[in-house]
Formats: sequence, C-alpha cells, structure tokens
Amino acid sequence: MITLDDARALDAADPLAGMRDRFVLPEGVLYLDGNSLGALPKATIAAQKDVVERQWGIDLIRSWNGNDWIGAPQRIGAKIARLIGAQPHEVIVTDSVSVNLFKLIIAATRLNSDRSQILTEPGNFPTDLYTADGAAGLLADNIVHTEQAGDLVDALGPDTALMMLTHVHYKTGARHDMQLLTEEAHEQGALTLWDLSHSVGAIPVDLNGCEVDLAVGCGYKYLNGGPGAPAFLYVREDLQDQLRSPLSGWMGHEAPFEFRDDYVPAPGISRFLCGTPPILNMLALESGVDLFADVDMEAIAMKSAALFDLFADRIEERCGGHDLNLITLRDAAHRGSHISYSHPDGWPISQALIERGVIGDFRAPDILRFGLTPLYTSFEDIWRAVEILGEILESGIWREDRFAVKAAVT
Ligand SMILES: *Cc1c(COP(=O)(O)O)cnc(C)c1O
Repeated sequence: MITLDDARALDAADPLAGMRDRFVLPEGVLYLDGNSLGALPKATIAAQKDVVERQWGIDLIRSWNGNDWIGAPQRIGAKIARLIGAQPHEVIVTDSVSVNLFKLIIAATRLNSDRSQILTEPGNFPTDLYTADGAAGLLADNIVHTEQAGDLVDALGPDTALMMLTHVHYKTGARHDMQLLTEEAHEQGALTLWDLSHSVGAIPVDLNGCEVDLAVGCGYKYLNGGPGAPAFLYVREDLQDQLRSPLSGWMGHEAPFEFRDDYVPAPGISRFLCGTPPILNMLALESGVDLFADVDMEAIAMKSAALFDLFADRIEERCGGHDLNLITLRDAAHRGSHISYSHPDGWPISQALIERGVIGDFRAPDILRFGLTPLYTSFEDIWRAVEILGEILESGIWREDRFAVKAAVT
C-alpha cells in the first residue's frame, strides 16, 4: 500500500517542490485541471497591477515604445522558443491557436500548391479539424482534408501538401512520434504542422531536432498565461520568407507606421502578426512563461512521469472494481502530462469530485481527465485526490440527482 507518508516523502525529494509556492492555490482545492486552465502565478498579480496602473494609466501611449509593448510578441515568443527546441526568432506570440492554425494551413498549402491533400486524423482536437475544413474550403476546389485513422505513414503520399497533427492527444494523452512522422512526411515532400497545446511546458519538445516546419501552441494551459491567453506559432527559419499569411494585417507589414496603401510582409516571423496585440493578456502570459526561466525541462518531464505513476498505481490500489478504465498509455515516452480514465458515469463522478474540491474535468462521452502540472502539483495532492475519488466511488454519492445536471463548459 502506498501511504500518505510515502507521497510526502516524494514531495520532500522533489527538486521542483519550491515552485508550488509561486502560484495562488486556494485552500481546500486539489487542482488537477492545469492542462485546461493553468493556475495563477503570484507574480502575475503584481505585474498586471503595474501594467494597468503605471504602464497604461500613467505612461499611456508612450508605453508602446517606452515599455516595449510593441516588441512583446517577439520577446515572449523567444522565451517560449527555449521550451520547444526552437531558435528565438522562430516563434511569435499572436492570436489564438485556432487562428494560427488557419493562417499556417493556408500558407503551407499555397506553398505546396501542386498537391491537394491536407492530412490529419479523426479525433484530433475539434478546432484543428474545423479550421482545416474551413481552410480547405477557401483553397482550390480540389483541396481535400483527409482524416486518416490508423497508420498515418500509409496515408502519406505524393499528393500530401501538409500533415497536421496534435502532438499529445487532448483526451487520451497519447503522444505521437514527432521525429518519425516528420521524417516520413518530408520523405513524401509534405510539410508538417504540429499542435503543441498539450505539450508545451509539460514535456520536452525539440522542433529543430525533429526538423519540424510549422507549429502552434496554447498559452493558457501549461504556460499559465491566464484565461484566453494569446497563442504562439513557430515557422522554421528558412521557410519564413516563403510563406504568406492570409490575414495580412498591418502589424505583419514591413513598416506599419509608414501607413502605406500596399501590403509588403515583414521579413521573418513578424509577418505572421495580424492586428494590435492584446497587451494585458500578452504580459500575463509573459509572467507565466517567465516561471520556466530557471526550470529544466527534463526535471519537468521526470516529475510528470512520477506524478502519473503515483496516480495510476494508487487508483489500482484504492479504486479497483469500480469500472475505471485507464485509457492513457503507461509508458512515459508515449504520453503527455495528463491521465484519463473512461467510466460510464464519468460526468456525475466528475461533478461529485468537484464538490469535494478535486478539480479535474470531463470530456465527452465518458472520460475523466486529470492534469498533472509539474510546477505546482504535489505528490500529496495526487494521493489525496485518489483517496477522495475512492470514497466517492465506494459511497455511490455521485448517483444523487444534483450531479446529473449538465453545465455549458465541462
Ligand atoms: C486547447 C487546444 C486548442 C485551443 O484553441 P483556441 O483557439 O485557443 O480555443 C487547440 N488545439 C488543441 C489541440 C488544444 O488542446
């Protein structure tokens, strides 16, 4: 049996344990949803106060130059680059994941215009599928977006313009082999676009090492940038000047403040900007990203794996015989940083957990999902959360009517 003291011993030996104190974590809550909305860093509160009161309130318009608001997309992009194995000038913070997907799908498919297939897989995150479909509809008539189940390598062919995949699956947590799939796509002359929303800040990513062409990722999950934080995009250095964003807004112009009538894209990554950046949100994201400055991504990966093992082992001991079915692979090399179980009554159980302060989430049709965020999840949190889940399953309290009520956001 794994005891609470065993979990505490793991915390005592954890080199990242000190990071937890840098987050606001409310009393009585075991927060296991940082893969959906990252927790609030304490530093963000002071930084946002400064942005609002001094930079906006007093410095006013002078802040664009004086506080380098104008350089925020590139500056924060460069900080994220370190977390994903990219060069500083290959990443920029802008727009949402959905909008960035749209821009890059169109740009890549136009570059590879003698080919007509955008290859992805069924069950990819909905916005990835919807934007691929929407983008394909705006391109030439013959462009199709194919959702290949099973072996993606088999589906790659001389007609594939772009292979677009999510690195870590949002439901199952399964991780694709980025190196292998990128290599296979290149062999067929296809470009690659990886969605890193469930990878960045949670597991090591090496875009340059894998020779990835394009990528996007989310700011409000493991990067702790706040609700609706701007997203980032990556374009391989030597492709940047060959690609054109279909959203040719003035911030992506080579000289926005010359106010010319004709559009000339900026050199490099800046051409993927569109409109004025949302500075409050950008700087909240920067506070979140700055917490990674002193942290080694390998230490994060090791802790994520250890949190997972404790969770899975403890569920086996404490919650056996209650229809919980682990759907995430146990091998750390093949998964991200959340753990998912299917259960026919997943929704009411997730609601009963929340009532007891254990905040995970539910993904239709039947998945209980728990995010393991190495910067602030403790081993004790995991032990206690499983204990509460065991009590809920044993007592059957989740069968009470109030837990059946559906919410708008799950
Ligand atoms: C969270 C997530 C998104 C979010 O897209 P938004 O445009 O920020 O709403 C996109 N793709 C994946 C794979 C995600 O996990």
